[in-house]
Amino acid sequence: MASVDTTIQLIERGTMPGQACAPELAEPPWTFDGIAPTYGPGASMFDVIPESAPRQGELPATYREATASELHHRILAAKETLGDRVVLLAHFYQRDEVVQYADFVGDSFQLANAAKASPRAEAIVFAGVHFMAETADLLSRPDQAVILPNLAAGCSMADMADLDSVEEAWEQLGELYGTSADASGRLPVIPVTYMNSSAALKGFCGEHGGIVCTSSNAEAVLAWAFERGQRVLFFPDQHLGRNTAKAMGIREEHMPIWNPRRRLGGNSPETLTDARVILWHGFCSVHKRFTLDQIARARTAHPEVRVIVHPECTATVVDAADAYGSTDFIVRTIAAAPAGSTFAVGTEINLVQRLAAEFPQHTIFCLDDVVCPCSTMYRIHPGYLAWVLEALVGTAERPSEVLNRIAVDDSVAIPARIALERMLATRPGEAVSV
Ligand code: SF4
Repeated sequence: MASVDTTIQLIERGTMPGQACAPELAEPPWTFDGIAPTYGPGASMFDVIPESAPRQGELPATYREATASELHHRILAAKETLGDRVVLLAHFYQRDEVVQYADFVGDSFQLANAAKASPRAEAIVFAGVHFMAETADLLSRPDQAVILPNLAAGCSMADMADLDSVEEAWEQLGELYGTSADASGRLPVIPVTYMNSSAALKGFCGEHGGIVCTSSNAEAVLAWAFERGQRVLFFPDQHLGRNTAKAMGIREEHMPIWNPRRRLGGNSPETLTDARVILWHGFCSVHKRFTLDQIARARTAHPEVRVIVHPECTATVVDAADAYGSTDFIVRTIAAAPAGSTFAVGTEINLVQRLAAEFPQHTIFCLDDVVCPCSTMYRIHPGYLAWVLEALVGTAERPSEVLNRIAVDDSVAIPARIALERMLATRPGEAVSV
């Protein structure tokens, strides 16, 4: 089966039927780097990017002009020379052209743990996005350098909640609720951040009695928070927060949205007093693309289909699916299914295509028939990978060099690790079948 990148190239050349969400996807990512900050083509292309988003400087011409075959041999040679000195981690949503070199493939938390399991590695090259590289830095040894091959690989969802806006929200909620615990010792509100957030927000949670969650353990983490607080402020993904709280029996009227551009998030004091989970106005543009119409079409075309989606999808899509859960849950469910099963999957296209290739005994397709990868994962290209690996190798003229290091300052890292450790102490949650 053709990779997502190859599929896009073929569609844009008119040699394959189908549709990609942006013709620019056929261009190499350095076309978009070094100019204005932008998420680039793909699912996040219409999201507003902060001015402060990291930019990637120009990739040297030797990498921009190299053919795919040249880059392939250069990456293999650099990896061979570096041996155990480097470990390459690739997220499930990464393009196959990069995943083929990975030592570990997984979700963000699995990969952060994989970094810990590579004690001989001096450098951890993270083929994912910025918050994932930060988490790997938080969980790895101080002498291990975490490298993000393209600094423009951010995450539009993580960027939707910044520290200033969360501190402002916290102050307003503090004025409204006060800071005293109730008769059972529960504080007015506990901050919970999704793993898909900056290290600064994880640090905020660590400092304010809060915690981090993943899409696998969000329910256990919310239960932890409700033991300690009357309410939760959940950021940045409203959909993971809503889907998890709904599964715990919390009604939607007790889950107001917090719009950071409006006083009290756009809510009345009474609404916030009645709230159980205050949902930050953030979302993933990859998972927002899945719709009820797509599910209806899949069920008409394949009456036996099982629809399985990620909890970053909207609640209406999650409610209409047969099952939902983390990427790891999706992978495990498909792996365990009897041969001949049919799955319509609501998550990023690179993972869906890889699953379809890995499990030819099943029929597996993406719910969305428009090819639209995650814009920021897509910024990692073999050209950037070759560049950072060859810099680590060095030459006779140029000593080994760490490029694009992601290092979290101790003032943030120490409280961020506290929030992560609280998460690790909760019992792991299971994904939910509906
Ligand atoms: S898939 Fe969504 S949450 Fe994941 S990196 Fe891309 S934009 Fe961020």
